[in-house]
Amino acid sequence: MNSGPVTHILSSLQFDTDTLYTLFELADRIRKISKSKDGLDFLRTILSHKRAVLYFAQPSTRTYLSFNNACQILGIQTSDMRSAATSSEVKGESIEDTLETMHSYTDMIIIRHSEDDIAEKAAWMFNRSDKPIPIINAGSGPVEHPTQALLDAYTIHRAFKGKIKNKTIAIIGDLRRGRTVRSLTYLLKNFPGIRFNYVSPAELALPADVKNYLQKHEIAFEESDNLDKAVRKSDIIYSTRIQDEYDQHHESLAIDYTKFYLKKSHLALLKKDSIIMHPLPRRNEIPAEIDADSRAWYWKQEINGLWMRTAIISHIFKEDGYILNYR
Ligand code: ASP
Repeated sequence: MNSGPVTHILSSLQFDTDTLYTLFELADRIRKISKSKDGLDFLRTILSHKRAVLYFAQPSTRTYLSFNNACQILGIQTSDMRSAATSSEVKGESIEDTLETMHSYTDMIIIRHSEDDIAEKAAWMFNRSDKPIPIINAGSGPVEHPTQALLDAYTIHRAFKGKIKNKTIAIIGDLRRGRTVRSLTYLLKNFPGIRFNYVSPAELALPADVKNYLQKHEIAFEESDNLDKAVRKSDIIYSTRIQDEYDQHHESLAIDYTKFYLKKSHLALLKKDSIIMHPLPRRNEIPAEIDADSRAWYWKQEINGLWMRTAIISHIFKEDGYILNYR
């Protein structure tokens, strides 16, 4: 099936529960299919007629590598620009003209940029062109990171064997500037009974628009700076780093972020079936000595990113049915 309007991935707001479960199933299937050579050969033919550009104007390790490898798994040829410094934007070209060029040469744009609305802008530009192509937001300034939220939700789905209902999640750290925080909050609305414990220094508290969203959807949430209490009460601990690249005047230096670091002693407070997540990269929010605990899920979360992003691309190109029917 290859018809119908182009699907973009622009915001976590665009997903409903059915689509999420389709993506979870697809990611599970792709993971399984890829275990055999025949399966990998099958996957590699699916989108071998497509080309994609990965434009990462901000640093990235996991999102870039997992998208690039997801494209390879599906046979998509990729080209990349890994920094705005290598783009003709440096010569004074507008981002619109840069996007136009990427659109001319390829069939999909995966973009990470410090500007909040580049992905929407591209989607809008090309929806009206004679060659609409999918746009994936791979991180937009401090605002959104929808594919991270999808892989986070997939990780929770796997950790709790499909039972995401009635869970309490503690989201810890830089809630004001962490784009994964907003995107995950939006996405988890799709799971009944979800409750949030937001834990942060006062300077980095949850932004008003996210609070309004929670209130509007009658989702229970608490805000505090009490890490121990959140660790004791939550099923999911989602730690994040301070986003000091968005500082105006090194203001992060005045914040005591160490109060929001998990320590080995927290493991004794954590419920036995709770899990610890982190979008990565970590600095000191989670010491490496926690990695060996069976409740540390961040490395599994990272691997899930590869399968979820392969599922997302398959879904965008409407190949879900073809993959799900593979025997
Ligand atoms: N990798 C995530 C992001 O791109 C989290 C982070 O950088 O702290 O937003």
